Amino acid sequence: MAKLYYRYGAMGSSKSANAIMVQYNYQERGQKALMVKPRIDTRDGARIVASRSGLSTECIYMEELDMEKVPEYDCIIVDEAQFLSREQVEMLARIADDLNVPVICYGLRTDFQGNLFEGSQWLLARADSIEEIKTVCWCGKKATCNARLQNGRVIKSGEQILLGGNESYVALCRRHWREGNTGRDGQTQS
Ligand SMILES: [Zn+2]
Repeated sequence: MAKLYYRYGAMGSSKSANAIMVQYNYQERGQKALMVKPRIDTRDGARIVASRSGLSTECIYMEELDMEKVPEYDCIIVDEAQFLSREQVEMLARIADDLNVPVICYGLRTDFQGNLFEGSQWLLARADSIEEIKTVCWCGKKATCNARLQNGRVIKSGEQILLGGNESYVALCRRHWREGNTGRDGQTQS
């Protein structure tokens, strides 16, 4: 019985690197794992999943996933899964249940305002297995929140998905996310 997995973590928790390594492990065993991502994410150019560590691999867009071809694969891996729609998450559940192909999704839990993404919400609701990929705040505590930075400052308002701008993100513990404290710029490090 194949499972639907959701492996979530904050920004910088090596989710894409993990996804690429899982695909590589399938290939090493002579099996095929298809890499997929939602189309909304175009930061890495067309049909590429790239990690900050430098690993990258080709992928298809979720919108191009053909249910009739899914049985040719031993596993479906989805990166940036927070950007999935509810309908796409339901489709992934059907792949696991009806086609018996495991689906491993990697993504964020919450956005920069602390709200669930649509994909995260429905993966948390539907996944058979939910695992956290851990990373740390500058203070050493576990980082569970994502702060959006603009000119080095934490900002708390704006669109949920903002790609291609000058914004960047940093993973913080909940307290330092609440305080907007990135541990830089002379802010108190208490
Ligand atoms: Zn902290």
